[in-house]
Amino acid sequence: MKISLDELRSQPQQRMLLSFREALAVADAVKPVVGDLTLTLGSWGVQVSGRVQTLLKLTCGRCLRAYFQSLNVVIDEQLVHQVEDRAGRRDRELLKDDFVEPIPINGMLDIGDIVYQAVTLASPTFCLCGEECPGPPLPDGAGDGASLVRDKQDDSKLDPRWKNLKTLFPKEDSGQKS
Ligand SMILES: [Zn+2]
Repeated sequence: MKISLDELRSQPQQRMLLSFREALAVADAVKPVVGDLTLTLGSWGVQVSGRVQTLLKLTCGRCLRAYFQSLNVVIDEQLVHQVEDRAGRRDRELLKDDFVEPIPINGMLDIGDIVYQAVTLASPTFCLCGEECPGPPLPDGAGDGASLVRDKQDDSKLDPRWKNLKTLFPKEDSGQKS
């Protein structure tokens, strides 16, 4: 979703209400990002504010199960006019330091990208499925009944193959026994 500065300038009070809905390439998002945004044009630039939400499919870092989590993100971004003169380069460096986005020279505001960055930033870096997390899965061969049964099954499955290997590589087999 892109809005031009001219479009925003032509609005009453230079303010625009947006119903945002876009399937953004946010990692783990399984639903489009939806929400209401307000764009306000000021002398210094454009304020983008509002609230969006989406649904994430995450993998718990402890029990390794997949789970869903809704994500609500407050959008409060400032896009400032760029100075196109000799001082342009210095100004851009300042902009980076201040964590504000410059308005592109062509005046097109990439609202989708602003929302994408905000949602990505708000996505959890460590995922926990909840308070009822069963904890880490038991490692193989932990010694409980289930894994013992599984080990037996694996042995019986492997038997015929080992027999084949014995006939194919009799030397290797005798080497293992000695
Ligand atoms: Zn968990």
